Amino acid sequence: MKTYDIVIIGGGPAGLSAGLYAGRAKMDTLIIEKQKYGGQIVITDELENYPGSIEGETGPSLIGRMVAQCDKFGCTRVEDTITDVELEGDVKVIKGLKEEYRAKAVIITGGATHTTIGCPGEKEFTGKGVSYCATCDAAFFEDFEVFVVGGGDAAVEEAMYLTKFARKVTLIHRRDQLRAARSIQEKAFANEKMEFMWNTTVEEIKGDGIVQSMVVKDTKTGETREIFADEEDGTFGIFVFIGFKPLSSIYEGKIEMERGYILTDDDMHTNIPGVFAAGDIRKKSLRQVVTAAADGAIAATQAGKYIEELAGTAYKY
Ligand code: NAP
Repeated sequence: MKTYDIVIIGGGPAGLSAGLYAGRAKMDTLIIEKQKYGGQIVITDELENYPGSIEGETGPSLIGRMVAQCDKFGCTRVEDTITDVELEGDVKVIKGLKEEYRAKAVIITGGATHTTIGCPGEKEFTGKGVSYCATCDAAFFEDFEVFVVGGGDAAVEEAMYLTKFARKVTLIHRRDQLRAARSIQEKAFANEKMEFMWNTTVEEIKGDGIVQSMVVKDTKTGETREIFADEEDGTFGIFVFIGFKPLSSIYEGKIEMERGYILTDDDMHTNIPGVFAAGDIRKKSLRQVVTAAADGAIAATQAGKYIEELAGTAYKY
């Protein structure tokens, strides 16, 4: 069976950036993506915070060019779902539903996913008023009204960040007490732009092309009511922060992790020689396309160095 130099698991910005750097360095590189290239940004209609992006740049348009670059530099791409890995030793084994793959080095870029509310309209209006990323989308709600769903650290911190843009931020929480740390809560209660809607869940999101209203339920009384956008605004934002989880279950017990996030050093090395992690799946402070792409470039460069050390081959970036 063929042994690739580098196998990259995942075809989001981290994986494709790793593919570009590995392919350009003439590494025999395989990228395995389970479904759709791009990861979380395939649902992004407007991508204005990736350096160099100009008006009209979307998640899919950027990803399309990243895939083309990987092809240009000779990466092989396959569609498969990885179910198991054997990472110890000089030859790593990556088992998929369709095939088994072998590599001298592996770069794990499986990403992460947001917990969703699961109510009618949420999926339909994602990117059209419903968001899971304040850093990405806050600027689109300058002077608008915004609702934040959740009561943990992420919801409260992101709600406060949103107050820098939005006219008013209302936090909707299913209980009457926040889960967030006390110090974070205190800052939120002191923030004049913040309001709180307790014992409330979002039951439905409605609109015509963009979010225009939502149905909420009082968890104590069971009563529902509809909240409409201010007439002049025509819309409002719904930011959902009810949990975020890395897609790392197949690596459990095999690589060092913290709360499911793979631990790496600054050069993307995991605790296993020849195994690297990049992008949202690793423990880091900022999960954005630009940081995922940077991680991928570093991981591929380091994987090249690792292979060079392993075999003594000439290697140049
Ligand atoms: P989290 O702590 O698990 O909080 C999730 C929140 O969402 C909870 O308040 C929960 O309500 C609510 N929730 C869960 N499912 C829901 C549903 N289906 N409908 C409505 N509400 C729902 O998640 P997180 O805030 O994303 O934080 C994750 C981890 O990262 C935590 O360990 C957190 O401490 C850490 N973090 C730390 C910082 C920081 O220290 N600055 C910042 C961000 C995150 P209940 O409370 O009723 O369960």
